[in-house]
Amino acid sequence: MNLGYFGPFGGAFIPEILQETFRQLTAAFESAHSDPAFWREYLDLMANYSGRPTPLTFAANLSAAHGRRRLYIKREDLNQTGAHKANNVLGQGLLVKRMGKKRVIAETGAGQHGMATATMAARLGLECVIYMGEEDVERQRSNVFWMEQLGATVVPVTSGSRTLKDAINEALRDWVGSMDDTHYVLGTACGAHPFPAMVAWFQSIIGQEAREQILAQEGRLPSHVYACVGGGSNALGIFQAFLPDPQVALIGVEAGGHGLASGRHAARLASRDAAIGVAHGYKTFFLQDEDGQMRDTHSVAAGLDYVGVSPILAHLHQTGRVRFEAATDVDVVAALKRLMRTEGLIGALESSHAVAQALAELPRLPDDALVIVNLSGRGDKDIFTIAEAIGDPGWRRFIRRKADLYARDDPEGPRP
Ligand SMILES: *Cc1c(COP(=O)(O)O)cnc(C)c1O
Repeated sequence: MNLGYFGPFGGAFIPEILQETFRQLTAAFESAHSDPAFWREYLDLMANYSGRPTPLTFAANLSAAHGRRRLYIKREDLNQTGAHKANNVLGQGLLVKRMGKKRVIAETGAGQHGMATATMAARLGLECVIYMGEEDVERQRSNVFWMEQLGATVVPVTSGSRTLKDAINEALRDWVGSMDDTHYVLGTACGAHPFPAMVAWFQSIIGQEAREQILAQEGRLPSHVYACVGGGSNALGIFQAFLPDPQVALIGVEAGGHGLASGRHAARLASRDAAIGVAHGYKTFFLQDEDGQMRDTHSVAAGLDYVGVSPILAHLHQTGRVRFEAATDVDVVAALKRLMRTEGLIGALESSHAVAQALAELPRLPDDALVIVNLSGRGDKDIFTIAEAIGDPGWRRFIRRKADLYARDDPEGPRP
């Protein structure tokens, strides 16, 4: 397992006090990894609880507009809680049971990882505490509501900027005091070893299925595979199965935000605004300024809005095996609309980055191109952002009406 290094990236830069916990976790991961019974149990849970295997859907209408080129969509949107996050969280849940721990903690920004963790904890009978910046608690009320209904305790973090990075600090503080019975469920293929390797392993189920499915449906490997990249877990999930086949082009699509020239984006590998550094327990490319301070990131998709990136992807970028591109907010919303109209699929804003890049490249790919886009999640969660971006007037009226109703019921009376 090369101590968690992928080329020069990765590692485990952790405080002394957590070292024993990481040693235990690495041992548990390695033992589960070499135990076929563990993977069988995982496949059973994914099949009977999360609906796997997810289909590989032929995008007949989009393909028809591009000659002989064929486009397929891997349907991670059909998972439990609507995204690939279930693959990781349920895998870690089984590992927690194997380690005999009773409690899980996690941090969440937009709330999707917290939601996935809360369903897993309910299902597997684990106590669950979710740390969330106070600002995000206010912004993501619907996810907070569901997490609480699922039995999780949501702790609003009031320090610092009251967003994701403060929630991470608070979750780590909890873990230092609770590691004997508690596991920290990390949401993506980042952080200190063994998290990147472990999360990538659980997500590898996506590519294993996709490879079998494309061979069964087309009798050949794809020529191009596209996936969006936040921390990198869904991209690694589908890419890993095709790494040994150099004829399969792998394209990771980052958040281009307002455009790379604007500086308002989250493109760590596709822009020149990132440099190698150590933070959050591992070494990778971080978006930073000349003084090494972390830059503010921006994306229309909350799940891609992160300063670091998986050390495994940083390595695949450096070796040239994966090509990285960025899609802008505007192009992403246009791609989302096109996918809805042509194929009847409501993709998440994150996933729509991969769709946007694939649609942009499709007309200039070879005649016999066979493309897979990983649709990492569904877009229902993004209704506020998407309706706003599209500028739907009916939606505005709906929100105003709700606000009026609440004001009328408010014991303090309607506000002027
Ligand atoms: C969280 C999320 C992502 C980003 O995470 P990765 O680890 O990069 O996969 C992408 N798509 C969806 C739908 C998400 O919820």
